[in-house]
Amino acid sequence: MKTILVTGGSGFIGSNLCGYLLNKNDRVIAVDNLFSSSKENIERFLSNPDFSFIERDINKKFEIEGEIDQIYNLACPASPIWYQKNPVETVKTSVLGVINMLELAREKKARILQASTSEVYGDPMEHPQKETYRGNVNTLGPRACYDEGKRCAETLMMDYHRQYGTDIKIVRIFNTYGPRMAMDDGRVVSNFIIQALKNEDITIYGTGSQTRSFQYIDDLISGMSAMMEKENFIGPVNIGNPQEFTILEIAEKIIVLTGSKNKITYNSLPEDDPLKRKPDITLAREKLGWEPAVPLEEGLKKTIDYFKKIAEN
Ligand code: UDP
Repeated sequence: MKTILVTGGSGFIGSNLCGYLLNKNDRVIAVDNLFSSSKENIERFLSNPDFSFIERDINKKFEIEGEIDQIYNLACPASPIWYQKNPVETVKTSVLGVINMLELAREKKARILQASTSEVYGDPMEHPQKETYRGNVNTLGPRACYDEGKRCAETLMMDYHRQYGTDIKIVRIFNTYGPRMAMDDGRVVSNFIIQALKNEDITIYGTGSQTRSFQYIDDLISGMSAMMEKENFIGPVNIGNPQEFTILEIAEKIIVLTGSKNKITYNSLPEDDPLKRKPDITLAREKLGWEPAVPLEEGLKKTIDYFKKIAEN
């Protein structure tokens, strides 16, 4: 039985990961400051003796009793509207917070996995994006607090690894959707589904010709845990679904799957919104034997069912 610390444990990805680890009979400690997440996501685990929750900010000095085998560092608001609400805190989470978690990993001799992001590639000039691509990020723009923060987090991981021999893993997570996304998350899949279910207009930013590649949450969890368990490979590794869609195609699919009668409205495109994004997952296939298994339509149906249930309660 391993003891695993999950920071950001009550968020969308974190709470899904906690459930997966508890099913594997690991002991899980979830840490979260509840800035962009909800305690409801982990309520069903609270009666499990192998689960505990600590409400705490990883930016503050972090001490914890007992042994820890692994740390999944997921803490950080990840939706553009949320990470731009308090950009200074967003930078701190990926710099001070990551240093605190790396120090904890050193002290406990734990393996630490950093949730990095496709945002390290910025508005990419290379397509699809391989791990070797160094990115095209505007250091001055509104997304930089997240993008540059996450880039610095990767630097810190590598430096702790080289300087102190810390056992690190870096995964670059591409757009992910599924149950337990917050209603007010603001990202495209949850926005479109909620709008369709409420019979509101679907809000496309820009023309809808920009692309993203969406992976279902279960695929991300299996990829991340495969990476955590893999020996002699620190990454970075892309974890995402290489099937690429325009945002207009996503809107049309959600309209069909929900039976929505509403129209699409076009709003302005946010500053520095990447024009295209698609992971090259050759490395994940080779090193982890991993690839996504859930097609978009199946994942969307499950996510629509989840939001329908939420709306009924
Ligand atoms: N988007 C949109 N309507 C929305 C929310 C997002 O058209 O209600 C667009 C957004 O401009 C971007 C894409 O969908 O081009 C993905 O946005 P999201 O915030 O989900 O994630 P990102 O990949 O930009 O971090």
